[in-house]
Amino acid sequence: MKILVTSALPYANGDIHLGHLAGAYLPADIYVRYQRLKGRDVIHIGGTDEHGVPITVLAEAQKKSPQEIVDHYHQSIKKSFIDFGMTFDNFSRTTLPLHYRLAQDFFMKIYDKGYIYTKQIEQYYCPNCQRFLPDRYIIGKCPKCAVDGAKGDQCESCGSWLEPFDLIEPRCLICKKIPEKKKTKHWYFKLSAFQDKLNAWIGTKEHWKENVLTFVRGWLKEGLEDRPITRDMAWGVPVPLDEAKGKVLYVWFDAPIGYISSTIEWAEKKGQPDLWKDYWLNKETKLVHFIGKDNIVFHALIWPAMLMAYEDYILPSEIPANQFLTLEGEKLSTSKGYAIWLPDYLKQFPADSLRYTLTRNAPEMRDADFTWRDFQAWHNNELADIFGNFINRTLTFINKYYNASVPRASNYAENDNRILDILKSAPQLIGEKIEQFEFKNGLLEIMKIVQEGNRYFDSEKPWATFESEPLKCERTMHICMKIVTSLAVLLEPYLPFTVQKIRKMINFTPQNWNEIAEPKVAPRIGSTEILFGKIDDEIINREIAKLKQEEINIEDFKKVILKTAKILAAEFVPNSKNLIKCKIEVDNKTRQIVAGIGKYYKPDELIGKTIIFVDNLKPAKIKGVLSEGMLLAAEAKEGVILLTTDKPIASGAVIK
Ligand SMILES: [Zn+2]
Ligand SMILES: [Zn+2]
Repeated sequence: MKILVTSALPYANGDIHLGHLAGAYLPADIYVRYQRLKGRDVIHIGGTDEHGVPITVLAEAQKKSPQEIVDHYHQSIKKSFIDFGMTFDNFSRTTLPLHYRLAQDFFMKIYDKGYIYTKQIEQYYCPNCQRFLPDRYIIGKCPKCAVDGAKGDQCESCGSWLEPFDLIEPRCLICKKIPEKKKTKHWYFKLSAFQDKLNAWIGTKEHWKENVLTFVRGWLKEGLEDRPITRDMAWGVPVPLDEAKGKVLYVWFDAPIGYISSTIEWAEKKGQPDLWKDYWLNKETKLVHFIGKDNIVFHALIWPAMLMAYEDYILPSEIPANQFLTLEGEKLSTSKGYAIWLPDYLKQFPADSLRYTLTRNAPEMRDADFTWRDFQAWHNNELADIFGNFINRTLTFINKYYNASVPRASNYAENDNRILDILKSAPQLIGEKIEQFEFKNGLLEIMKIVQEGNRYFDSEKPWATFESEPLKCERTMHICMKIVTSLAVLLEPYLPFTVQKIRKMINFTPQNWNEIAEPKVAPRIGSTEILFGKIDDEIINREIAKLKQEEINIEDFKKVILKTAKILAAEFVPNSKNLIKCKIEVDNKTRQIVAGIGKYYKPDELIGKTIIFVDNLKPAKIKGVLSEGMLLAAEAKEGVILLTTDKPIASGAVIK
């Protein structure tokens, strides 16, 4: 059997964040790594989705071409995937000529079969820009919540889904002029024609995850409607018909075809250009699409209907879609910048800690919440204290007591056999979880083995038996090494970087998943290192603070009263090199404030300067000295610089 795994094509208008990883990518990678260890014929296909309006909107905002935008994000996404340990057999992009040809062929074939028809519709047109405006190019007041700035497809303020004509006082996003309604022709895919076929097909998928089935059945029950597959814009795959000049394929239509074009590219790169057919045209292939919840309708209904219309290609076998991940209790939002971006994460923390945390708390059946505190706790208490500790105590013991040579063992006792039995059944038990897309349960089973290992080490007391019962001690340590060796395979899908380190430390030649039921232990171990250091509170607090940088509204800001003041006198606070006590003049009165600028200013330099300060701050004592306000200063790498006024002004002037 061949296994063709795809993970949702990430949209090339931004970096990958934790929600994406938890939804589709990490599960896909765990699955393919496991299948490879099983020795199966599996390929993992991916790439970036590079068409569509969000990309052109971003390009226009940044005064760049769409191509520049997608070139940048394709590289950036590809790099952070590699750094996160994602293993793709091919990571392509939908702007390749090969993809254009394939998408156009797809269109033409189902067009010729009569599954595509045209329809006149009215759409907004901007006479100033001389172009039709896709949904997201129209802004206006939301009909539901009245907030201005809602887009033609959705109001981000209240979350309502909208149609462009719903907007009150619509404007063109680019030039802000009022658009007019104009007739245009679009091509529609006859999705409704596949209602019965899809119904029957979904009927054969009773084993699918409940969250996916519920969603799909809901859509089928409502009845499927035909969908437009063209758009009036320049960025995209041109519709291959003479009468469709200036129109491109809608991004949802061309993107999934990217799975096929990426597989073709993979085969070409391998120098076996027909090899892709063994997967896509082979009824024995198991096609698995890893996606997030927001993609279910496309992958479980529309895409299969497209494939049914085309006829030659296989249909999806499995669509193990995950639910959403929230972040500190709130929805992630790319547009609001509320997310943890993978490149930022990787600058500070190990990839495996995130792989562990996101799987430990995977949104497999329901939404899950990522918090930095959980991350810290799981890293410190489970990866470092339980897992890292077991590996470390075993290897350290063998280094110290046996000079790095792994003791042999015979005549196992009951407790030893109990552990061997656990190891024996582990590949089957954990493998089943992974095959059923229960990645979290698979990981928890492995962690149970680690805990058994620690308990075994504690109860066998090798540090005591080394002198009193040397044979028993040898057995104990041999068994512990078997556990370590077994973990160096079982954990590879989950913690690939850590497993590499362990394998080096124990001189391990990889075994396949099934063989690890009876792990072969190397005669000697190499030098060892601590696998997981602790992450301390300070670092976590900083990450939380970064996220909580909330937007405030004008009313909040107006509460802060800022005024000018003149510094009359200044001196260091006793026993401090940084705190300066200033006497300032405001509204013909004097006041005292304490400022932490002593590293950058001498008290004498300050006297006579006009500063900006917060007038209505609650008085507080700093190092025992009263401070009735706070001066403003700008901080950068170069140091701290006081804010002052552009021209001389009286003390007590209110900053507006
Ligand atoms: Zn609204
Ligand atoms: Zn315009």
